[in-house]
Amino acid sequence: MDRQDYMAWLSQIDELSAEQRVEAGRALAGQPSLEAVVGLLEERIGAERRCPHCTAEGAVIRGQSNGLRRYFCRGCGKTFNCLTGTPLARLRYKERWTAFGASMSEGETVAAAAQRCGVAGSTAFRWRHRFLRAVSSGVVKLRGIVEADETFVLASRKGERHLDRKPRKRGGKASKRGLSDERVPVLVAADRSGSTVSAVLPSVCAAAIEAVLRPVLGKDALLVTDGCTSYPPCAAALGVSHEVLNQTAGERMRGDLHIQTVNSRHERLKDFLRRHRGIATKYLDSYLRWYHLAILPRAPSPRAVLAAAAGMLNVRPACIANAN
Ligand SMILES: [Zn+2]
Repeated sequence: MDRQDYMAWLSQIDELSAEQRVEAGRALAGQPSLEAVVGLLEERIGAERRCPHCTAEGAVIRGQSNGLRRYFCRGCGKTFNCLTGTPLARLRYKERWTAFGASMSEGETVAAAAQRCGVAGSTAFRWRHRFLRAVSSGVVKLRGIVEADETFVLASRKGERHLDRKPRKRGGKASKRGLSDERVPVLVAADRSGSTVSAVLPSVCAAAIEAVLRPVLGKDALLVTDGCTSYPPCAAALGVSHEVLNQTAGERMRGDLHIQTVNSRHERLKDFLRRHRGIATKYLDSYLRWYHLAILPRAPSPRAVLAAAAGMLNVRPACIANAN
């Protein structure tokens, strides 16, 4: 934070309530307590106190349970807390979630996360997947020059009991080069403002690419791709202009047109995945969420990670996007 922003931030301290001062003090001391985590989570409920069972508003507070406020809905007579209906419901050791948020923001492995939070590896693993299931992302529009390119990620069938091939050592290489059923295609599209969308593709066909791009591509977009034959019919179906770079003939750039932005995103995604050797295919989507949450924005605050996981942003599960 530069000096001017810092002074502006500091001047707002006078507006804090007594409770907020205590909480801010803890955060500054680097020891966010259970109350700090709970305070963050309770923000989800908001002033309307909407019941997750029947969507009626105006629930009343009725005591506490497991450190969280218990709400009673007069509409349906059921109780709930701020995590009811989310993947984070009923997880224990909430006071360690800020440490876990820090671990997520640094892209740590399960073993490192377990050590940092003082929990078993199995708990750290469960948390990771519950948090990533909960993480949601904002709606993004890609405008102007939009680069799109697919990359292939080595898929693992880790944890599956009945393999129809010989098991491979984790992090190993595909037995066949190029496109095979051991490589999963991931589409990455980005515009020049840095807004990025990525999604696991069922296959590299025009229809699959169109399904990812249709909700996010502005009508004014100029799609730039390599010579893959799936893109022309996709661009035609979407009704956007399309320029092809003939990379196999050595054409990396034509005027302003190139696909270096998405290719550098591919590299960062692969670096990140490499750290977590041998990711199971079924979890690839979760890891893409993580990449968008914590790796693309470069180490966001643990608070931001927890807030995203607590579902304070809009939900859009089909593909994963973020605007930086
Ligand atoms: Zn209700």
